[in-house]
Amino acid sequence: MADVELRALTKEFPGGVRALDTLDLTVADGEFFALLGPSGCGKTTLLRTIAGLEAPTSGQVRIGDRDVTGLVPGARDVAMVFQDYALFPHMTVLDNIAYPLKIKRQSRPERSGRARGVGANLGLAALMDRRPAALSGGQQQRVALARAVACHPSVFLFDEPLSNLDARLRLEARTFLKRLQRELAVTTIFVTHDQAEALALADRIAVMEAGRIRQVGTPREVFGRPANTFVANFIGSTPMNLLPGVVSGGGVAVAGGTLTPSTITPPTAPGERVIVGVRPEYVSLSTTPVDGALTGEVSIIEHLGAVSLVTVEADGALIGATVPEDREPVPGSRVWLSPAPGRVLIYRESDGELVT
Ligand code: ATP
Repeated sequence: MADVELRALTKEFPGGVRALDTLDLTVADGEFFALLGPSGCGKTTLLRTIAGLEAPTSGQVRIGDRDVTGLVPGARDVAMVFQDYALFPHMTVLDNIAYPLKIKRQSRPERSGRARGVGANLGLAALMDRRPAALSGGQQQRVALARAVACHPSVFLFDEPLSNLDARLRLEARTFLKRLQRELAVTTIFVTHDQAEALALADRIAVMEAGRIRQVGTPREVFGRPANTFVANFIGSTPMNLLPGVVSGGGVAVAGGTLTPSTITPPTAPGERVIVGVRPEYVSLSTTPVDGALTGEVSIIEHLGAVSLVTVEADGALIGATVPEDREPVPGSRVWLSPAPGRVLIYRESDGELVT
């Protein structure tokens, strides 16, 4: 078993930057786990602290049933793949893959046999004698992965492993990475700032902000029920509508109208200020009046491919709704917006936490 457990992990850098703030997290054995968050939230620091490249100011890192907090990276049984792959430029692909085995003092035939085997599995058989400079970005990435796989670690740590690839190669590499992780069933923690990548790859995601974890959940949970307005804002390729509202008469008054109990059940007291969250994908748009709908004027239409994002201005607020591309309303026209029942979330205005 190689679960990874972090207990009250804190990292302060000189100058008072608290990159990790009493962070608790357990990643299960064999899990594919994403660390997601905006730039500077502490993702890389967290990964480096698990790897042993950074010493925590306080707290504990456990791998399997061992406390590894005081151990050097080589004694932790982890393999890390860096954003820039960190390949040795003067070594061949074969020697790059075999290098960690050399450090582990395996014999030359043993390590080159293993490196060739892993390389072949990752589609690198024909490239074994090349140097990194003679490889494409995608091939370099595979060499870096092969080097990690050859070590047979208990845990893989990936720091933005796909970020140097172009969009098309990235999609291919994503599928490849997912398949590889499934086959090897090795606990994997990977850092990304790309929420689409995290949603596509991970079994579970931790969304971080300023050294803390704001939510841990499956892609479905984090997308469908963000635990707070920070996560709601961060997740989703089109941003979630977050509309300030006031609980009134069994419903919630927001810009453009009042959402009635047929759409939402306000759990809070009349007069309480809330934020109503609903994804544009769950707002239906009508060009004729609809009872109980919010109303406003079409402001902007963005073409996203098969669907278009329509931004509607209602009492000075902007509300997004996606429509099939052949059902776009006329810019400037009046429309009616109905959030889908069961898809509306209510957050407390005071602290942004999910109420229901
Ligand atoms: P990005 O997505 O931009 O890589 P990140 O989420 O990985 O960001 P970190 O690199 O972990 O964030 O940085 C977290 C915070 O710690 C930032 O405020 C950063 O400036 C600070 N930090 C990181 N390394 C050091 C260091 N060696 N010395 C001082 N501050 C540091």
